[in-house]
Amino acid sequence: MGSRYGVKSRQRARAAFVGVDSMVPLASLLKLELENDKIESPIVRYGEASQAKKGEDFTLARLDCQRVEGDPSSNFAVFGVLDGHNGVSAAMFAKENLLRDVMSALPSSLGRDEWLAALPRALVAGFVKTDKDFQEKGQTSGTTVTFVVVDQWTVTVASVGDSRCILVPHGGDIATLTVDHRLEDNEEERNRVVNSGGEVGRLSIAGGAEIGPLRCWPGGLCLSRSIGDVDVGEFIVPIPHVKQIKLCKTGGRLIIASDGVWDALSNEKADSCCRGLTADLAARQIVKESLRFRGLRDDTTCVVVDLLPPENYVPFTSPPPAKKKGKFKSWLFGWRSKESTAVVANKPGEAGTVEELFEEGSARLAERLGSDLSSGVFNCAICQIHITLADGISVHAGSIFSMTNRTLEGPFLCSSCKLKKDAMEGIQHARDITVM
Ligand SMILES: [Zn+2]
Repeated sequence: MGSRYGVKSRQRARAAFVGVDSMVPLASLLKLELENDKIESPIVRYGEASQAKKGEDFTLARLDCQRVEGDPSSNFAVFGVLDGHNGVSAAMFAKENLLRDVMSALPSSLGRDEWLAALPRALVAGFVKTDKDFQEKGQTSGTTVTFVVVDQWTVTVASVGDSRCILVPHGGDIATLTVDHRLEDNEEERNRVVNSGGEVGRLSIAGGAEIGPLRCWPGGLCLSRSIGDVDVGEFIVPIPHVKQIKLCKTGGRLIIASDGVWDALSNEKADSCCRGLTADLAARQIVKESLRFRGLRDDTTCVVVDLLPPENYVPFTSPPPAKKKGKFKSWLFGWRSKESTAVVANKPGEAGTVEELFEEGSARLAERLGSDLSSGVFNCAICQIHITLADGISVHAGSIFSMTNRTLEGPFLCSSCKLKKDAMEGIQHARDITVM
């Protein structure tokens, strides 16, 4: 019994597709696949809470996204926190456009595994496209973005700025899924900004005294990455740190919050203050705790996402019945035990384990977009417009990491996105003088 039920059904479905059992109607097979997905997928619950000081924090929560439109077996969910500065327009623009821009960089023909493998690259393309489109509007505003994609048990987090996302796997240790892009705390980012033409220093007041955190100049921003900030300098890049992990079927909790929370609470405190609460109450409790520690000094926003085991989940190592009840009474995420003929079990020693699938934080597009030798279709890897081979410029062209001539190697950029890439890396062009 146990998970074999699901495996067997899948094998049956696959066998039917290759013709061993060609009498099974397609509709039945799709239904079977859907039922299997239900058995295999976590129950996703979320809650959010916010206390506004400036009203520049925004959240994102969508449970109804689909890889393939109209196909419920391709469902996934998206969550996010966007902490705007210098106005709300960048945060609002990113909230409205980022998901679409990420999706436009993913072919709709991909199956789940291929889609998940392509997602980190699409997140980079989507973040850069949203940033570029916003900057073209000429509005002076910027935002952090922490964008979380939950597809079954795989969680992919892309972030710029300092709206941290932590993971508390059930029975495991807290993990941080983002990197804080704060000049004060991140030496690597300080070096990158300086090498790309920015200056890093503290605010000087009358008399020459320096105050506050490290900022980049021109602009005076404390962050090293963001979306927007056209007036700050292209060295503040929108290229996200991306991390992809897979949770085991005991589930876990994601806490995504703006710096109003993280300036008040440690990761451990944020986790411990909301233990035993539902996602909705947990988010409220975290905001309440933050205000208790620090007062309302900044917008304070939190999204909590729980990935709960499926209803038919039974742990592999079941303690004796009496103890079992006591042990799982304190389970945090609403775990339910239910008699069922179809059950999902974890593997021995699986509880709390997190499989790391991908992590990359480089600010260079040539490293983030990878290589694409097989591409016969020429779309700009960032804005997705059609380009001819003659117009396309390889993302590897002029790369200092290139040992050979890779100018004919994809992915390719249109001339406008190539200018954006060079500007982010501190390369000046004549157009800077001629274009407003
Ligand atoms: Zn382009």
